[in-house]
Amino acid sequence: MPNSTFTRMNSPFLPQTDLQQIAAFAIEHQEENDQFAAFIKEFNDEAIDAKVKELDAQISPTISCTDCGNCCKSLMVCLNEAEADNLSSHLKMDRPSFDHKYLEKGSNGMMIMNQMPCHFLQDNKCTVYEYRFEGCKEFPALHLPHFKRRVFTTFMHYDRCPIIFNVVEELKKEMNFKQENS
Ligand code: SF4
Ligand code: SF4
Repeated sequence: MPNSTFTRMNSPFLPQTDLQQIAAFAIEHQEENDQFAAFIKEFNDEAIDAKVKELDAQISPTISCTDCGNCCKSLMVCLNEAEADNLSSHLKMDRPSFDHKYLEKGSNGMMIMNQMPCHFLQDNKCTVYEYRFEGCKEFPALHLPHFKRRVFTTFMHYDRCPIIFNVVEELKKEMNFKQENS
């Protein structure tokens, strides 16, 4: 079992990318993260978005998604009809065969990939990269506006995505966040 009491990143910035350590840290810091999620809500939307975007731009290039691949291994990706048409056509499959092989459909019309890790992940690389879905392209969505509206989902992925983990931990430092009763 890895030691989960690692020190937070100091300058020069070295991202934490060990998924076991990140998961253990997340369990130990659940209360702190709940407080931070509430703390953020008091700040101006644009200021938070700008800071998150800046940290994402600094941190994302320091983390190798092809070494990680954890989102493709651990998330059920949603897709829409156009995306399914696009990928099935690329794979030279008709839609019924594609749907049967790869999709699960909800009664509300929602479609998700039917397997984790994703069928199209091989050696931590997406084999259909040019045809991947919007959800794949967006994740972890730190470049998008309205971060405050997505705090809940961001923290849902804090323990699985090193980019989110490191951005959030740096954001705590930059905002001088201190946990109460710590
Ligand atoms: S389609 Fe590609 S990017 Fe999307 S989850 Fe599957 S492997 Fe990952
Ligand atoms: S987006 Fe996050 S979870 Fe996905 S591969 Fe990159 S670092 Fe890993």
